[in-house]
Amino acid sequence: MNNIFPKNVNFSYEVFPPQDISNNFKLVEKINALRYKPNFISVTYGAGGSNRDKTMDLVRRIHQDTDIDVAAHLTCVGSSISDTMSLVDYYLKIGVNKILALRGDSPNNISKQYEGHPRGFQKTGELIKAIKKLSDIQVYTAGYPEKHPDSVDLRSDIENLKDKINSGSNDIITQYFFDNNLFYTYRELLTVNKIEANLIPGIIPITNFQKIREFSIKCGASIPKTFEVIFDDHFSNLDNEEQLEIVLSIIADQAKDLIANGINNLHIYSLNQISLMDQIINKLNIDNVK
Ligand code: FAD
Repeated sequence: MNNIFPKNVNFSYEVFPPQDISNNFKLVEKINALRYKPNFISVTYGAGGSNRDKTMDLVRRIHQDTDIDVAAHLTCVGSSISDTMSLVDYYLKIGVNKILALRGDSPNNISKQYEGHPRGFQKTGELIKAIKKLSDIQVYTAGYPEKHPDSVDLRSDIENLKDKINSGSNDIITQYFFDNNLFYTYRELLTVNKIEANLIPGIIPITNFQKIREFSIKCGASIPKTFEVIFDDHFSNLDNEEQLEIVLSIIADQAKDLIANGINNLHIYSLNQISLMDQIINKLNIDNVK
């Protein structure tokens, strides 16, 4: 087992609770089998605030049954302040020390205009403040290099981000992106706006191009034109090994470039493909990254 990555690069992985809660156990087994242990694993919260029990169960299992830190995602959507905070209480009680605080999206339709619960937190900054008032744990927040789809422009997105940082978050995990220049521009924008929080790029392996393309439209992440060529009909005719090699090369090249440009924390949206994470790290061959 190895939890120290060469070159002081820290990785974190996002997982989501399986549909069937009994599969949480299997997911934890896979996490324990990882050769390279990430710094922490984050567990998503069901869209629209659904599947609360599945998230709670998986967070607890990772916390109790592995030696890896866990960050619980928590959204404000569809929940009163007291319901949301009872979940925070639960996490604190079992010893979880990281929460990714989010606004979330309105149920059943990611592109529907967001409506806060009448007795709920109306913005993410309020949730962050309430968590930090209870305990000085690490509160992560989300950032959007290509701006959040609800935002009129990047400027107002940055103002919202400032509010989240001023409310007590010191770590930003970004939405995934494929063009690193978008991330570098975003990083500069944060510097210009004196946002000094730790900026952690989120990257995703393209294990299913069609699904990633569909989701990217909803969450405002652009897909490079070159991907349309790489993942055309020719790709589906390749055997599994050849396909895997392409997927690994794309994400490893992206990560190497980020590391070469001063990034030492990387968040990978694992899509629950846990063993793929070790393959990515192997492919990175970080000792050779200049
Ligand atoms: P915020 O940053 O608080 O707001 C999003 C945007 O809306 C802002 O940029 C701002 O421009 C606009 N806005 C917010 N409040 C106002 C206001 N009062 N007036 C005007 N404009 C406003 N979703 C889940 O359901 N579960 C998850 O586990 C989950 N994990 C995620 C993890 C990461 C790393 C990321 C990047 C996203 C995740 N999401 C998750 C998706 C997220 O919930 C959505 O992107 C959601 O639409 C925004 O949440 P947020 O916390 O980023 O919102």
